[in-house]
Amino acid sequence: MTTKETPKACPAEEQPSVCTAPPASADPAASAPKTSRRDFLKAGGMLSMSTLMGTAALMTQSDDAHAAAEWAEHFQKNYRLMTDAEKAEARARLERRYSQEYGKQVTVDTTGPQPGVLMGYALNIRKCIGCRRCVHACVAENNQSRGTKPGEKIEWIQVLRMERGKFEQGKMDHGYPEGLGIQVGGNAYTPAGQVLEGQYHYTPEAVPEQDATYMPIACMQCEKPPCVKVCPVRTTYREADGPVVIDYNWCIGCRMCMGACPYWARRINLTSPVLPKEEMNPVTHYLGNRPRMRGVVEKCHWCLQRTRHGRYPACVEVCPVGARKFGNLLDPESEVSKILERKNVFRLKAELNTFPKFFYFYD
Ligand code: SF4
Ligand code: SF4
Repeated sequence: MTTKETPKACPAEEQPSVCTAPPASADPAASAPKTSRRDFLKAGGMLSMSTLMGTAALMTQSDDAHAAAEWAEHFQKNYRLMTDAEKAEARARLERRYSQEYGKQVTVDTTGPQPGVLMGYALNIRKCIGCRRCVHACVAENNQSRGTKPGEKIEWIQVLRMERGKFEQGKMDHGYPEGLGIQVGGNAYTPAGQVLEGQYHYTPEAVPEQDATYMPIACMQCEKPPCVKVCPVRTTYREADGPVVIDYNWCIGCRMCMGACPYWARRINLTSPVLPKEEMNPVTHYLGNRPRMRGVVEKCHWCLQRTRHGRYPACVEVCPVGARKFGNLLDPESEVSKILERKNVFRLKAELNTFPKFFYFYD
């Protein structure tokens, strides 16, 4: 569930039923098991709830902040159902745990939605130069997993590279060019904005490339989010100020949301996230960029740790060409409202009726 080493007596490969109960005589913190909520629920079927509650009480009194937090988290409510006192307790517990784990003072913000705010995003599709600074700023700000092994690297933003082109009558019956497999009939294959074949791994010497155009995508913070509809444990939901969030502690990693999202916006932590201590951003939000665990899904949340305090998301701040805009859709004077009023605006896959609050525009 975390980056902490698994105790020798309880290797990760073992079944939860074998390793979730700490020995009665040992220091419970020392033998803290490494479990996910899914493992824990399975184990709950084998141990009585009173046994588990008793163990949790013992663990939460432990001096080991990591073990205490992990056990307490198994028993905490879904974030939406917590009282203010329970939120404060969870926050204090996590701040203690992360500070110990990362060797620096970590804060976990719990600021909620502000009245009269509906967050919205706009991106000037003509301006983007495909430099991907937004991708890297997002990774650094939001404590995403780095690493080189399969499943370790997580990036919430993808910048799709597409060829420029246009449809012309003369190309209409050319078919696929030679050498590219089966001829499937007449079409305008030669570059005509091949949206479905957009690449996000590209390594040019310089950007923008002459024959390319770029389209950044991430979570669209849908007003009618399919990911929320399918989540069986209600761990993902829309906040009152717009962003769709995930209560990481309740995610069971079933990946239903990943299948339902039409925008390829969600990522699962297949391994324990790789987050070097020195690179960890200590300014976190409970529903935002706090460190995640193995087996949970995550995605963009419009930098709640920043935007709920009047700051721009990291990607907006870093974009060298000012392609990215962010603001309050309920404020007619905000930059994003003015863009919606005056520019040519479109939403991705509008026909799906997901009503993204992420708008693309061009002058
Ligand atoms: S930082 Fe701006 S210009 Fe660079 S890829 Fe991102 S949106 Fe495009
Ligand atoms: S873009 Fe995907 S993950 Fe984001 S709110 Fe919409 S359906 Fe959910």
